[in-house]
Amino acid sequence: MEEPEDPAAGPLQWLVLAPYGRDGKLLAEALTHCGGRVFVCRDLEELLAKLRAGDADLLLISEDGLVSGGDDRLLTALRQHAPGQDDILPIVLLTVRTDGAHPITRFPGVLTIAKPTRRDLLDSVLRGAMDTRRRVLQLRTQRQDLEDRRARLQVVTNQLATRNLALADALRAKDRFLSTMSHELRTPLNAVLSYADLLALEIDGPLQEKQHKHVDRIISSARHLLAVIGQVLDYAKLNAGQLGIETTVLDLNAEVEQVVSMMLPEAQTKGLQLHVEPFPTPLPPALGDRLRVRQILLNLISNAIKFTERGEILVRFRHDREETVSVQLIDTGIGISAEKLVPLFEDFYQVDNELARAHEGSGLGLAIAKRLALLMKGGLVVSSQVGVGSVFTLSLPRAPGSDAEVPRFGVNVPIKPERRW
Ligand code: ADP
Repeated sequence: MEEPEDPAAGPLQWLVLAPYGRDGKLLAEALTHCGGRVFVCRDLEELLAKLRAGDADLLLISEDGLVSGGDDRLLTALRQHAPGQDDILPIVLLTVRTDGAHPITRFPGVLTIAKPTRRDLLDSVLRGAMDTRRRVLQLRTQRQDLEDRRARLQVVTNQLATRNLALADALRAKDRFLSTMSHELRTPLNAVLSYADLLALEIDGPLQEKQHKHVDRIISSARHLLAVIGQVLDYAKLNAGQLGIETTVLDLNAEVEQVVSMMLPEAQTKGLQLHVEPFPTPLPPALGDRLRVRQILLNLISNAIKFTERGEILVRFRHDREETVSVQLIDTGIGISAEKLVPLFEDFYQVDNELARAHEGSGLGLAIAKRLALLMKGGLVVSSQVGVGSVFTLSLPRAPGSDAEVPRFGVNVPIKPERRW
């Protein structure tokens, strides 16, 4: 930003009202010595005109120069000239009255020198007055600069506020559009699925093998599309704050069992082991929305299968004494590099690699899963290593007062040794 010009750096203008008589030589010498430009006014009228024109940085007045009534007129002019506290015009007054009774001494910033004037005193007072004036001018410039900046900031703030409003409108319109479109697409798609299912069941007559294959393709594509539409609908609802959570006490073992049994055939088709590590002691119940917990687990297990070519997918449980119960999904898949882990839970984010490109996906699954976990007052975190695998941990709040025990996989099962992650 451009620095404001510093008026205090230039020469200062002295307005002098003093008949150059007795003190004349002394004053002329002292003023020349302390620097600055000097303008000697012929009379009070000229001094007042110069004051009004803003041509004064400092005043030097000898009371001999003030005609009768001049004090009051000068005081009025000074008050009009300097309305603010920080705009004091230093005035050096040479006077015989050393008792402070001269009316001009009522004005702030007046330095009085007793006549007859001592030269060393005059020099130091003049220099002091110049310093004061320079400081005042610097302050004035800084204040002006601050005010300019504040005004510019205000303009930018106003523009931002207007843009924010427009952006919020656009976001609402986008979410409305997504939500309406998802509903509109779902209805005919469900019809397509139902008719394809009827065909597959051969209710209207047997199908040839090739026809069966085609119908199966229709069914799997329609299911995939339905899942994507479901994600878009969830996304729109989450953004609009309209996704309700029905919290109940959950047995995470049972939920995992359900989802794992659904996904087992898919894992087996790929030659992957999908198994659950039994928890050695009864697992405390958690709090969460059953359907949403299943949705998250489904997403995590389906991703683990997608991004693991060989090895295994392990599900295990953890809990800390007081607060949370967690499920961990551990795979021996392709893993994710550290810099790609950072935006992993952002909307529509997909890691760009060969395997990811080979799979269809919206990049919404993890973003939705994380937001659902947070809505349930839990969390979803990941750690991963390229070529080694990933660990996704879904944690949920523990049900209060839950010393209740939910053993599902038996007690007294030895704990497997800790894995690397
Ligand atoms: P998508 O529906 O596209 O799979 P997700 O939000 O579920 O979207 O996942 C985002 C990206 O995170 C995926 O494209 C994939 O690259 C990466 N990812 C998710 N889970 C895993 C995993 N278990 N192993 C490796 N990469 C994964």
